[in-house]
Amino acid sequence: KSYQNQSKAQPMDASDCVPYAVAVFCPLHQTFTYTGPPGLARGQRVRVAFGNRQAGGIITGSADSVPTNLRLKPIQQVPDTEPLLPESLCALAEWMARYYHAPIGEAYELCLPAAARPGLALPATRSPHSLTLTERGRALAPDQLKGAKRQQLVRQLQQHSTLSRDELKALDISKASADSLVRDELAAWQQESHVRPRPAPESNLTLSAAQQSVLTELQAGRAPQLLLGVTGSGKTELYIEWCRQILQQGRQCLILLPEIGLTPQMVARFSQRLGMPVEQLHSGMGDAARLRVWRDLAANKVPLVLGTRSSVLAPFADLGLIIVDEEHDGSYKQQDGVRYHARDVALWRAHQAACPILLGSATPALETLQNAVTGRYQRHDLPRRSDQGEVARSLLDLNRHPVAHGLSAPLVERMDDHLQHGRQVMLFLNRRGIAPSMICEACGTIQHCPNCSAYVTYHENPARLLCHHCGWSHRPPYPCEHCGETRLVPLGLGTAGLEQYLQQRWPDTTIWRIDRDRIRNQDDWARINSEVQAGQSGILLGTQMLAKGHDYPNVTLTGILDADSGLFSADFRAFERTAQLLTQVSGRAGRRRARAEILLQTRLPEHPLLNQFLRDDYSTLAQRLLDERQQADMPPFSHLALLRADHPEEETAWGFLHELSRILALPDGVQAVGPMPAMMSRRAGQYRMLWLLKATRRAPLHQALDSAVLTIARGMKIPSRLSWGVDVDPIEF
Ligand code: ADP
Ligand code: ZN
Repeated sequence: KSYQNQSKAQPMDASDCVPYAVAVFCPLHQTFTYTGPPGLARGQRVRVAFGNRQAGGIITGSADSVPTNLRLKPIQQVPDTEPLLPESLCALAEWMARYYHAPIGEAYELCLPAAARPGLALPATRSPHSLTLTERGRALAPDQLKGAKRQQLVRQLQQHSTLSRDELKALDISKASADSLVRDELAAWQQESHVRPRPAPESNLTLSAAQQSVLTELQAGRAPQLLLGVTGSGKTELYIEWCRQILQQGRQCLILLPEIGLTPQMVARFSQRLGMPVEQLHSGMGDAARLRVWRDLAANKVPLVLGTRSSVLAPFADLGLIIVDEEHDGSYKQQDGVRYHARDVALWRAHQAACPILLGSATPALETLQNAVTGRYQRHDLPRRSDQGEVARSLLDLNRHPVAHGLSAPLVERMDDHLQHGRQVMLFLNRRGIAPSMICEACGTIQHCPNCSAYVTYHENPARLLCHHCGWSHRPPYPCEHCGETRLVPLGLGTAGLEQYLQQRWPDTTIWRIDRDRIRNQDDWARINSEVQAGQSGILLGTQMLAKGHDYPNVTLTGILDADSGLFSADFRAFERTAQLLTQVSGRAGRRRARAEILLQTRLPEHPLLNQFLRDDYSTLAQRLLDERQQADMPPFSHLALLRADHPEEETAWGFLHELSRILALPDGVQAVGPMPAMMSRRAGQYRMLWLLKATRRAPLHQALDSAVLTIARGMKIPSRLSWGVDVDPIEF
């Protein structure tokens, strides 16, 4: 009832109107002044005339000093009687606009669910239906029922009391199975009640002594906390117990997860352990479903949310705990518009709400580890569980063995052995979709830029070698810097046709391919996953997706086909990412089995990182990488920001940033590099250029960005079709 359209109901007398500052949803770095009826509050939605169109906006406050000669436009519509955005989210939007140097309207827009952005009246939201057992269903012994699916469903319902549509889906139970129980009057669909769910007081799982002691420390902790534990060490169970405690106090929990494909299992696990339904928020949901969860969170009717990146912007009424799982994951960083990092926003929100925050990972980001070193964060290590098997890691020198379709002869031999024993084999391809480095086929030298100490990268369309540090480029053929032969090839490619080859070589073996082409939604993921978990022999072939989330307890052999790719990237985070990826992939296999094997194929068997990886755990390796960062004065020992420009013509994108670099006076302590092409120098028909700023202290960096934004907004001619933006703490170059 509070979402009615006021503008039609109450025609306004213009003389009563007062000026307001409005963050209009557009890519400009300022608010605009409009007039409206007195009494409108900050956070209230409006619709206004903007240029030659209408746009949504948010009132950010009253505009007191308005020049009297200005003719102000009136607000067109005020769809709600009260602010839809709570003060906590207004403050968040203001902070994001400041910290990320983003357009204020875009920052506000991002904090609203999509359905609320046009600034029009909102539809009423209804709770979805959920399934619950009838009296008869509750009395039933599941084995008496016909059909395995129906038995499974009744068991689940007896355990959970109700299951929502999403939960049914996550459990892989079709609507038809549910309906058949309803027909037999064993279960019924019911409108979900508006009573806030409560967790069961006790878990059906007992924490180990190690888990319990870490949990006790966490609960007493004040600063942001880091939980470091290998995959399978029991971090998730610990999250659940901490949540249970916060929920029992009647407060709310936010669990951030990097990947949407991984949430169904997590949702089922949380709701099963907590004994109550839990909600999700992610971009795969429809606008209406997101709006419902959004409103119920604001009304404190939803106690716990599992969500991806954008759920960190949701309106919690009484936030009691934030957990960021896999905190090192790059997908927490938004790569367009307001380029926020969900982990960093989560830290800000926890500070604002004065609630605890936990960052969990087997492979924390170097920034996070460094924060633990300096004492800004408290670090807790969870030891391996006693039933976790050990893993043997070794290198396979690709220079010494014949290779076909990316598989070396010794790897093929090991695969044969494991498959013959009815086991599962996992093959991992490191495809980052970025430019590879170049290696000489004749002498094995990785090629450097003639001007810098950096490695060159290979780009297609048109084919060229490129240096990301100085912008040097050259068309092939290019002579090897060491032997002069012109036999340079991109490093780490050569696995084309691998899947067909696997099928030919092992015709009776199941092959599961796990990558973005094959797995498009939760259903695909759930199906493959349950097949793999069932344990029959087969080969998993996958990309980065393998490194996320899932455990494959039946895999006893992991082959990392191109351990080298990523080692020679011009990206200063290449080693960190490779170390994380190798650790994560290794951690997926061989749960609860002695003697899992990991074989890393490499052309560079002497490479220090690979050798350290065989020897050391991630923490030790990461500390060494941190030392190198410090020597090189790179993050976290300095801070970076980018100005980006994209345009269909390379010259135009470059020219814009070049002009900016010419006229902008940089404050002391800020260094600039470029402009130069991005690593992925062209995407979707756009040439992508960047200008890199670096500083030891944040303040002068922000000052430089402020004046860059001001210079562009106030003085520069922006070519048509050019898009530009600021990227603070970039992770992609
Ligand atoms: P992580 O999140 O660190 O990868 P999980 O919490 O998923 O680890 O635990 C790995 C596996 O071990 C899961 O199947 C989990 O249920 C099980 N597990 C963890 N802690 C316990 C415990 N205290 N008792 C029994 N099983 C446990
Ligand atoms: Zn160079």
